[in-house]
Amino acid sequence: MSCPICAKETDPKYRPFCSKRCADVDLGRWLKGSYAIPVAPEEEPTEEDPPLPH
Ligand SMILES: [Zn+2]
Repeated sequence: MSCPICAKETDPKYRPFCSKRCADVDLGRWLKGSYAIPVAPEEEPTEEDPPLPH
């Protein structure tokens, strides 16, 4: 098996990666991906917004 990031030999310490650096790279990609999932790009206001007409 080879490192999914740089295709080098895998280090048992950092399986399935070859180094901590590649593990961090993968983690970063994963986090970015998870941040990109939310549909609403803008933050939704969570303050109370009573629908009563005034
Ligand atoms: Zn690597």
